[in-house]
Amino acid sequence: MARKVDMNLLNSLIEGSQNQVVQKGTPLTTDPNFPLFTTPVNEDVVVYIPRTNVVVTENGEDMRLLTSHIHTAKVGNRTRQLRCINGLLGNPAFDALGYDGTCPACDAMSEVWELYKMKLESEAKMLGVDPQTAPDNIIKPIRTRLLEEMALKDAEEYVTFTVVVIPSSRLGSPTPDAMNAMKVYFVHWRKKRYEEKLLSALKTLMNAPSHPAGLLWQWQFTYNTGGKQPNARDSALNARYNVITDSQVIEIYKPFMMKAEELAKEFTVLKAAEVVVANQFMYKEDIVQEVDKIMANTRKLVKDFKALSSVGGVGQQALGGFVPQGLLNANPLMNFGQGVQGQQGQSLGLQQGVQQVQSQPQGFFVPPQN
Ligand SMILES: [Zn+2]
Repeated sequence: MARKVDMNLLNSLIEGSQNQVVQKGTPLTTDPNFPLFTTPVNEDVVVYIPRTNVVVTENGEDMRLLTSHIHTAKVGNRTRQLRCINGLLGNPAFDALGYDGTCPACDAMSEVWELYKMKLESEAKMLGVDPQTAPDNIIKPIRTRLLEEMALKDAEEYVTFTVVVIPSSRLGSPTPDAMNAMKVYFVHWRKKRYEEKLLSALKTLMNAPSHPAGLLWQWQFTYNTGGKQPNARDSALNARYNVITDSQVIEIYKPFMMKAEELAKEFTVLKAAEVVVANQFMYKEDIVQEVDKIMANTRKLVKDFKALSSVGGVGQQALGGFVPQGLLNANPLMNFGQGVQGQQGQSLGLQQGVQQVQSQPQGFFVPPQN
C-alpha cells in the first residue's frame, strides 16, 4: 500500500503546487533560451520580424529560412515531430548518423495507410456503403476522422524563422514594461502557412518587399468563440497577419524594433537547426526505435484486423478478446476480408487462421529497412 503523506506537510504541498507548470506534450526546444512561438489563444500580438537571417542576393535581399521535412506523429494523446531523412545520403555527416537514403518513418507509412484503408472499409461496411462510391456527406467525415487518427503523417515541408513579440495592450500601445519584456521566439510553421499568410501579405504592400523581415506586424488570433472556451486551434484557424504601415504607429515602435534586433542576434538559422526539436537530426537507429514506439498500436491493429478478416463472417464473440478495442463497434465483419483483399490488390495472408497470425513474430509487418 502507498505510504500516507504526513498531514503536517499537506499545507506546504498544496501551497507549493498552486502554480505548478505541467509539461504538455513533448518539449519543442532543447534550450529554454530559444523558445518556440506557440499560438496565442484568442489574443492579438504585435510582432517584429528581425533581420537576423537577411542575406544580400543578386536581386536585392532575402530572408534565410530553415527548411525541413517533418513527420508528425501521435503517441497516445501527445504529438511529436520527427525529421524526415528520406533521400539523405552520400556525405560523411549523413554516414556518421547511419543515413542510407531511406527514412524509417516514410517506410512505416504503408502500414499507416493500410490501417486507414482497413478502418475505412470496415466503417463503410457498417453503413452499408462502398467507400469509393459513397456520397461525400457520408464518407468525408469518416475519412477526415480516420486521417486524424493516423499515428504518423507523410512528411510535410516546414520552415523556421525568428520573431520578437512586443507586449502591447493594443496596437500602438506598448506596455510600460515592454522594453524589458520583449521576447524572441523561433516560429516553426508549415511552409504553406508561411507562404499563404506572411508572404502573401507582402504582396499587398507598395514596392512589395521580398521577405517579411524588418517589418512590424500585428498577428491577430482573436475570434468569435460563439460562447465556447477559446482554444489555440481555432485561434490559428481564424488568424489574420497584417503588416503595420501606419507611420505613426511604426514611429512608436522604432526603439523596440532596434532593441529587438539586438535580442534576436543569436536566433540564427543554424541555431534553429540545433535547438528546435523537430528540426534535429537523429541517428537513424534512434529514429527506428522512435518509429517502433509510434507504430506499436497501428501494427497491433493491422494484425488484429487481419486475424479478424481471416475468419471471414465469424462474429466477434467467437474471437473472444481478440477484437481491436474501440475499433469495431458493431458487426464489422460482413464480407470484410474480401473488401480488404480487393482494395489492396495483393494477398494479405487472409487465408491464414487466427492461430497462425497470432504466432507471427513481432516484426512481421515491418517492411525491410534497407
Ligand atoms: Zn520520412
